Amino acid sequence: MYAPAVNEAFLAEVSSLPGGERITQCIQCGSCSGSCPTAAWMDHSPRQIFALIRCGMRDEVLSSNTPWTCASCYTCYVRCPKEIKITDIMYALKRLSIREHKAKPETKPARVMAEVFEGLVNKHGRNSEFHLMRRLYGRPSAITKALRNAPSGMKLKRLGRLPFRQEKLSANGLMQMKQITDAVEKMGGL
Ligand code: SF4
Ligand code: SF4
Repeated sequence: MYAPAVNEAFLAEVSSLPGGERITQCIQCGSCSGSCPTAAWMDHSPRQIFALIRCGMRDEVLSSNTPWTCASCYTCYVRCPKEIKITDIMYALKRLSIREHKAKPETKPARVMAEVFEGLVNKHGRNSEFHLMRRLYGRPSAITKALRNAPSGMKLKRLGRLPFRQEKLSANGLMQMKQITDAVEKMGGL
């Protein structure tokens, strides 16, 4: 019977990341890839990413656009017969690729968006779509994109989907959130 090679080191590393605990249970059934709405744009489908992790292909995994193409829809997560936290693993792989500077240049827009989102949530405890867009498209390098997307933005504004008001947590709520993020940071999760 054919058994794929297993590189224990990278597999153990991903297993130790928050959300990665059950990755060794993957049976390569493909339910995740078959359910994924963005798989067509991924370098490797979610199932393939798990096979590559198993084979120890660290660079290929960390430089893949797959985690950055993941829309965090959680479809794979609820359909996986082995209850593997696939979406959480995608986040863990993003963090690793940022830390080790492995992410490809073309994934930069997704990374900038993640940074802007994180900055807003750290500061206010909540995201606000309007302020996210303002910071994302307010950069000089994003002017062309901003102009291209302006009509869609105007439509969303008219429909009340882009309120100017920045949502905020209370001071107490912010303090509690910081305690949570500090604890997660200690576990290697941020
Ligand atoms: S659905 Fe779960 S078990 Fe099946 S290939 Fe994807 S991660 Fe592996
Ligand atoms: S959470 Fe990500 S990987 Fe899973 S189905 Fe949705 S887009 Fe695909």
